[in-house]
Amino acid sequence: MTRFDDSTAIVTGGGSGIGERTARTLANDGANVVVADIDRENGESVAATISEETDAEATFVAVDVTDDGDVAEMVETATEKYGGLDVAVNNAGIGSTLVPTAEVSERDWQQVIDVNLTGVWRCLRAEIDAMAEEGGGAIVNTASILGRVGTEGAPAYTASKHGVVGLTKVAALDYASDDIRVNAVCPGYVETPMLEEAGLYEDEATVEQLRELHPQGRLGEPREIADAIAWLCSDEASFATGEAMAIDGGYLSR
Ligand code: NAD
Repeated sequence: MTRFDDSTAIVTGGGSGIGERTARTLANDGANVVVADIDRENGESVAATISEETDAEATFVAVDVTDDGDVAEMVETATEKYGGLDVAVNNAGIGSTLVPTAEVSERDWQQVIDVNLTGVWRCLRAEIDAMAEEGGGAIVNTASILGRVGTEGAPAYTASKHGVVGLTKVAALDYASDDIRVNAVCPGYVETPMLEEAGLYEDEATVEQLRELHPQGRLGEPREIADAIAWLCSDEASFATGEAMAIDGGYLSR
């Protein structure tokens, strides 16, 4: 027996980075996984390799977390194909360009909040309904160290991640009596395509500055976040709910 035998999991943003590694970790431990991502090519490839390499099944669903219909289809796929929903990891997210607070365009502000915060709420709403019908479940939302402290020049991203932490706590309280646990992880900087897209991998000096923000002197690996997410989703964490767990090489301890 493995931790997630006979379980069904959804991972949003499952086509890349932390989400991809989380989908693989859950499947290695027995879960059938719905890999949900706006990027069809990456998502299909992750689902196909999980089905090939593990005893579990994986299905890709094209989902934009800003679209209610897509989110409903994602949850329906889990319940209809695999008979229920036990685990959900709301991880899809986007970065933001670095500009001071008063200079963010309304369009950029709205886009980051819509994907990173409202997207998590949209997914939670659909997943909670499905889990309540089945007698419970475990949800983990991917926040950030920037859900716990600020940084210069990322107002929308930082506000969205603080929002995810707050939403996690309220959902945990609202559904504790339904046996639905809701937690968040707050990763430090992790080596994923998101850092490249944010231009933070362009030169060694910038990468070194990022490493030095972490007392362990390095960036995180997707596996280190995925392992924490899987633990929070498992029965080993049965008394943990409403927690925003830092996995950050000591960043928040300074
Ligand atoms: P990533 O870019 O590798 O993965 C993000 C995934 O989300 C991609 O596959 C992308 O296609 C998908 N996505 C984006 N918008 C979407 C939408 N509207 N609907 C559905 N899918 C969408 O980045 P990552 O670093 O693995 O990021 C995963 C999560 O971790 C994000 O929420 C991010 O904010 C958070 N995070 C990342 C870091 C870091 O340093 N990499 C640190 C803290 C938190």
